[in-house]
Amino acid sequence: MSGLQSLRGMNDVLPSESPLWQYLESQVKSVLDQYSYREMRMPIVESTELFARGVGEHTDVVEKEMYTFLDRNEDSLTLRPEGTAGCVRAALQHGLTHNQIQRLWYQGPMFRYERPQKGRYRQFFQIGAETFGIASPDIDAELIVMTHRLFKKLGISDSLTLHLNTLGSSEARARYRKALVDYLEGVKDKLDEDSQRRLYVNPMRILDSKSKSTQALLDGAPQFKDYIDEESVEHFDQLRKLLDAAGVDYVVNPRLVRGLDYYTKTVFEWMTDALGAQGTVCGGGRYDGLIPLLGGKPTPGSGFAMGVERLLLLLETLNVVPDSIYNTVDVFMVVAGEQAQLSAFELAESVRSLPSKPRLQMNCGGGSFKSQMKKADKSGAQIALILGDDEANQKIVQVKDLRGDMQQETAAWSDLAEIFAKFSI
Ligand code: ATP
Ligand code: MG
Repeated sequence: MSGLQSLRGMNDVLPSESPLWQYLESQVKSVLDQYSYREMRMPIVESTELFARGVGEHTDVVEKEMYTFLDRNEDSLTLRPEGTAGCVRAALQHGLTHNQIQRLWYQGPMFRYERPQKGRYRQFFQIGAETFGIASPDIDAELIVMTHRLFKKLGISDSLTLHLNTLGSSEARARYRKALVDYLEGVKDKLDEDSQRRLYVNPMRILDSKSKSTQALLDGAPQFKDYIDEESVEHFDQLRKLLDAAGVDYVVNPRLVRGLDYYTKTVFEWMTDALGAQGTVCGGGRYDGLIPLLGGKPTPGSGFAMGVERLLLLLETLNVVPDSIYNTVDVFMVVAGEQAQLSAFELAESVRSLPSKPRLQMNCGGGSFKSQMKKADKSGAQIALILGDDEANQKIVQVKDLRGDMQQETAAWSDLAEIFAKFSI
């Protein structure tokens, strides 16, 4: 292949794939609307400092994965690796957290310099939701119930498991971190390389190490349940009660810690076995410390982000997408003759103005009747409108059923709405 190529790990979405993207996006959007979440659109580039502070200096994302560069003014900028920091920054900048509750969502590309593989890309898309100003577990439950509704609606909930954990208050976590480091120092030589490196910078991350031998060592480690604060215990119990009452199943997974630094209390992930190693399609939790960390008055926050590509992979793997989403044309218009050509736009526009909003593709570029009929068939349209000179002069048109066995008929332009109704167009 010659010529310029897209960057590794950054994908085009081709017209044959975009119906699937649009399908998912519209399903997500309709669920978010039902819960009265409002959209926030943030810039894709922010100051590097925002992510260093907001995501955490010692996270994988900030240490190894960010696309950071100097602009012409020598300011350090970063392509956003995630949405929460920017959403909080925007909310603070515009006073949205001042004595108010917010339920927000966003979507768009995120950038991380990772090793590309199935379900892991350098530009990938997230749809996320963030709530500000609510400290109680009911909003954590709402976020989870909302994702559950979405996954049911998409037909993938049977293949997803909700993992739930609590990370307690930051004080409780600090006490636990110390105990964990004390223990792990004793077995340091036996830890995998990544975990040795994390031991002093981000020891909690060792808990979700993928290394089997490290996981075995952790069996003897101090357990967070012996360090957690009372308030966080109550928060977690109440969250579990709410989820039980709402009929949302979950497993409590004490090793779930999440990659980003800012979480407190609730953390959760929706995971599947159907996608190999990249099994988390949605992750979220509570981050009461983040807003003050970014310069706001102490304000609680809670949210999640979904990986769009992973959800699409799951939809395809499970084969749960209605075929009809790939039909983009209802009516194909065949135009034969000079007078027909002149009248074609008038007819096409009147068809497009019908209340049922038919999707009409006009034959442009000429061609024989036979080649136009071939295009009509290939377009996926249900019916062809065939306009010749005689038809044009009389304001009639031939209607041909391309998929079924309805008789071809001649119709007045003004009767098309009725005929389309027979085809559910
Ligand atoms: P993972 O451990 O799988 O890399 P993460 O903890 O880094 O995930 P988050 O920062 O929590 O991911 O992002 C939320 C979601 O975004 C993930 O659950 C996943 O679905 C998706 N995601 C994260 N990184 C990528 C990536 N590089 N490519 C595709 N999707 C991604
Ligand atoms: Mg990651």
